Amino acid sequence: LFAAVDMAPRDPILGLNEQFNADPNPAKVNLGVGVYFDDNGKLPLLNCVQAAEHQLVDAHKPRGYLPIDGIAAYDKAVQGLVFGADSEILKAGRVATVQALGGTGGLKIGADFLKKLRPTAKVLISDPSWENHRALFTSAGFPVESYPYYDAEKRGVRFDDMLGALQAAPAGTIVVLHACCHNPTGYEITPAQWTRVVEVLKARALIPFLDMAYQGFGEGIAEDGAVIQQFVASGMDFFVSTSFSKSFSLYGERVGALSVVCTSKDEAAKVLSQLKIVIRTNYSNPPTHGAQVVATVLETPALRKMWEEELAGMRQRIKQMRTLLIDKLAAAGVQQDFSFIRSQVGMFSYSGLSTEQMQRLRSEFGVYGVDSGRICVAALNTRNIDYVAASIAKVL
Ligand code: PMP
Repeated sequence: LFAAVDMAPRDPILGLNEQFNADPNPAKVNLGVGVYFDDNGKLPLLNCVQAAEHQLVDAHKPRGYLPIDGIAAYDKAVQGLVFGADSEILKAGRVATVQALGGTGGLKIGADFLKKLRPTAKVLISDPSWENHRALFTSAGFPVESYPYYDAEKRGVRFDDMLGALQAAPAGTIVVLHACCHNPTGYEITPAQWTRVVEVLKARALIPFLDMAYQGFGEGIAEDGAVIQQFVASGMDFFVSTSFSKSFSLYGERVGALSVVCTSKDEAAKVLSQLKIVIRTNYSNPPTHGAQVVATVLETPALRKMWEEELAGMRQRIKQMRTLLIDKLAAAGVQQDFSFIRSQVGMFSYSGLSTEQMQRLRSEFGVYGVDSGRICVAALNTRNIDYVAASIAKVL
């Protein structure tokens, strides 16, 4: 049966992790994966999460199956976070939200639903994008192409080219957009540019799919979510996937969601019923723990305040690391201007280093980043940054 099965290629980023773990170099630094570490290089367990978990343990609740669309209080809390608690479209019942297995699960439920709804559509993702976007929509059966995004020369976004590609896309094309903190480049478009994107998507009758994996890691929870309001104001129907992996440091709990904004309450009810079929036929219903933790934190004012402060702490530490890296590179004698690192937003930086330089960083110094030049700024800390800066200086 399995004689003809080929060995699949390793996941490029998770493969890097394996290589890192096997590296005996005591000075090694892992800037490959998209995970936030604290200044001690440890994966944080947020205080708000610990407090919610204590509450949940004390309650000793039984573990029945959840509804197919997840915990109702969780879905409601997600909606409040994404659309604003006073949102008119929420009051009007126009949003269908389901709990999902991380942001990936939200994307996949949306992709499978869209495949039934628009079987001949194509999908556009940014060039470059989170690698799983292409793989996920391809495996859902869509042809996946890209729209221009990263401008290596100007160190920013090829906005006119991006807009041109959207203008040229056939009606009904699904357009995946990073709502904030673009992965992998760290470059975002401005609110005014978002306005143009929204106009073109609407005029061309394209289907927006916003991927919100880093809300709160850019400028703030509301600031990072502001783009959603532009889409709401446009009156378009659209998709939003949410991930709490990073913002709650709950990676392994697989906590995410999918929200679909519809034209009416009646439509939203029908869409929800279809999303439930996608879920039922994939994994029946979602797990309890992580979503219960997130719902408890978001709904308990004291815990929510704690979360907002802890999230702000992570956001600010990343920003400090950006500035510190620029300073340390200069101190290590690097002539090249790296100030662009400060203009990037979120966990990642496209460092501008070549594949060859990234490979040398790995083999000679044990500093692991992605061949594309992407480094995870959220994995830098005051202990490893001198070594990282000195290593980069040597390969430049
Ligand atoms: N979208 C983007 C842009 C991401 O970077 C990630 C995580 N790396 C995800 C989605 C998936 O998030 P999760 O781990 O919650 O599935």
